[in-house]
Amino acid sequence: MNPRNALNFSGGPGALPESVLREVQQAIVEVPEVGLSVLGISHRSDWFAAVVDELEHNIRALLGVGENYHVLLLQGGATQQFSMVPMSLLPPDGAPADYLHTGYWSGKVLPAAHREGPIRVAWSGETDGFRHLPSDETLALNRSAPYLHYVSNETVEGLQFHRVLGHDNVLRVCDMSSDFLSRPVEAERFGLIYAHAQKNVGPAGVTVVVVRDDLIQDAPQGLPEFLDYRSHARAHSILNTPPVFAIYVVLLVTRWLMQDVGGLAAMETINRRKAERLYAVLDESDGFYRGRAAERDRSFMNVAFNLPDKTLEQRFLAEAEAAGLSGLKGHRAIGGMRASLYNAVTPEAVEQLADFMDRFRCTVSMPAHGATGVR
Ligand code: PMP
Repeated sequence: MNPRNALNFSGGPGALPESVLREVQQAIVEVPEVGLSVLGISHRSDWFAAVVDELEHNIRALLGVGENYHVLLLQGGATQQFSMVPMSLLPPDGAPADYLHTGYWSGKVLPAAHREGPIRVAWSGETDGFRHLPSDETLALNRSAPYLHYVSNETVEGLQFHRVLGHDNVLRVCDMSSDFLSRPVEAERFGLIYAHAQKNVGPAGVTVVVVRDDLIQDAPQGLPEFLDYRSHARAHSILNTPPVFAIYVVLLVTRWLMQDVGGLAAMETINRRKAERLYAVLDESDGFYRGRAAERDRSFMNVAFNLPDKTLEQRFLAEAEAAGLSGLKGHRAIGGMRASLYNAVTPEAVEQLADFMDRFRCTVSMPAHGATGVR
């Protein structure tokens, strides 16, 4: 594989598996079973209907949910879900829905949801700079809330819940954009899961929504057709022209997950090992690399860290880039460094990053030997 693709630690859009890229390359010219470029196949073709069918089936199988869940392939990114969820699930004059404010992205959800109806911020990590997530003891959730909304993995700060939150009698809604299909989840404990594709499962342009049928049937009448889950469910995600290319790539990634990786439990084992390798570099660096997240809440997807000062951070990024390691700059909201270890980032790539980090630390801690930088 192109060595720079192999060492792409971007926060998103993220790396895709090499075998999928090769299939996509072929499909751009010609989808073998159709004889046409994927960019020029009608969304009303039988071929595309079969793509959507197989993808719905694969996602249900990977998540372990039944036919009572719709798998919808929508546009507008995860951001559109910030509004679509409350438009459908939030009664305008009932009890407020509980929202957790655990980082940058769960913070972005709040004003959008608030515009649609009553919400309550049930917990916020803002005062501590979003360095930890709530424990069950510190969460005071409302047992009569219409739903609980949270973000399973805070992409910017590198915080991840390693359990399902909330009470079983309160509907769970979860933004899984940055850890979707990276590990098994007890999906049937959720009423609605949404995730854009561009981290673990494909290119930007499509957002997967997995939602229980009874919930969308109870949504208010009179929603704009395009913002009503029912219309998309009825149309099997082909209400208008969907992003055919992006959906096809997501199908290829689900096939890769099922056939090459061997399912989500196998994927989790790999992802966990990758993250542990990198956190060990932080932990064994005598405080040179400072992880942002509290140990218990560390993300397996996004490893966010700082160096002792900004000058060293700049030098780290420049030397990493020169060594072919890309995408390590932290999110603009908080700066620092972030290594994203999405599904397609290989253990070998993580090994190379870990080696680079060890060498960089040694070089700057021993300036006499460090004049030429790390390659
Ligand atoms: N939620 C999470 C957890 C994210 O990481 C992001 C973007 N990185 C978003 C929502 C927003 O997604 P989009 O750009 O697809 O609207």
